[in-house]
Amino acid sequence: MTKFNGWIRYLFALAFHYSGLDAVYRLLAGRGLVVLMLHRLRDEHDYYPLSTHCDTLARLIEWMRAQDALVALDQGLARLAEGKRHPVSYAITLDDGYRDNLRLLQPALAGTPATVYVATGHIGGEPIWAYRLSRAVETRSQDLLDLAEHGLGRFDLSVPSERVRALDLIPPWLKQLAHDDFELRLEEILRQLRPAEPEGAAPDMMDWSDVRTLDENGIEIGGHTCSHVLLSRVDDATARSEIEGCTRDIERELGRHPRHFAYPNGTAQDFGSRDVDLVKRAGYATAATSIEGINRPGTSPYLLLRHNVHEARYRAPHGELSRALFFSETSGLLGMLRARRVA
Ligand SMILES: [Zn+2]
Repeated sequence: MTKFNGWIRYLFALAFHYSGLDAVYRLLAGRGLVVLMLHRLRDEHDYYPLSTHCDTLARLIEWMRAQDALVALDQGLARLAEGKRHPVSYAITLDDGYRDNLRLLQPALAGTPATVYVATGHIGGEPIWAYRLSRAVETRSQDLLDLAEHGLGRFDLSVPSERVRALDLIPPWLKQLAHDDFELRLEEILRQLRPAEPEGAAPDMMDWSDVRTLDENGIEIGGHTCSHVLLSRVDDATARSEIEGCTRDIERELGRHPRHFAYPNGTAQDFGSRDVDLVKRAGYATAATSIEGINRPGTSPYLLLRHNVHEARYRAPHGELSRALFFSETSGLLGMLRARRVA
């Protein structure tokens, strides 16, 4: 069924893109800003839809540049406000602060305008919980993971498909727990797995000198809280200290106030109007969600919509990266149809 849907979607993308229907739709729909949301830039296998190969990003960039559509976030917002000659612009953002984001400075990607949102408590420290979990599964010293008392059953992690199943089931279960419970259960899982980090393993997260290197090379650094907390799950004092503390950390390290913020996890369930107010009061000019869609002139700058990009996202069913899928899903008729279905 999924395969069938994949082909239908791809054939529609081809039809919309190459017939010119997408171009007509873009003209009629008017100005728009597509904000791409990436996380990691690496070629290694990822259990989560959060990694993009550098070659893949380089192709997307080439396509966007060919249309003079790729801009920095601030420039994209300016075009949205008044750029009549540019119906749709694209901006690139990356969340969390992974060390592989330094690849933005490699020759193939150098000069790419991008915003990197950092969870400052993780800079120079442990990865975000999802990667602590997948790393612990990979470097476990015990194969049996018993979560029967939480209704998730048992996993024999010596079997590859069991590792995939565990990492499919555990993150959504953790995410719906209250903050304190979440921490307790994560620690419980890590205790069971007893991960043994291989000696000399490269850190997942950037340190502050890496962040400064990005900053000095024109990459915009934005805020993403201190500990990547899901803001809707914490009390007022915690939400404030997470947002203000992260802002102060960036100011201290870079000598300037960050302009852009992204809500951790970023779905409509992960933050509320209190958090939007706190972000405004902390002096940010924009805040990005992970709710999918295209930003129009009336979109609140504190509720920017984004498109999640990962390695498999814009590939045709036969595996090739598809220009038609990319443009039709992000700013063409496929994206419009998807938005209608969600609404
Ligand atoms: Zn994040």
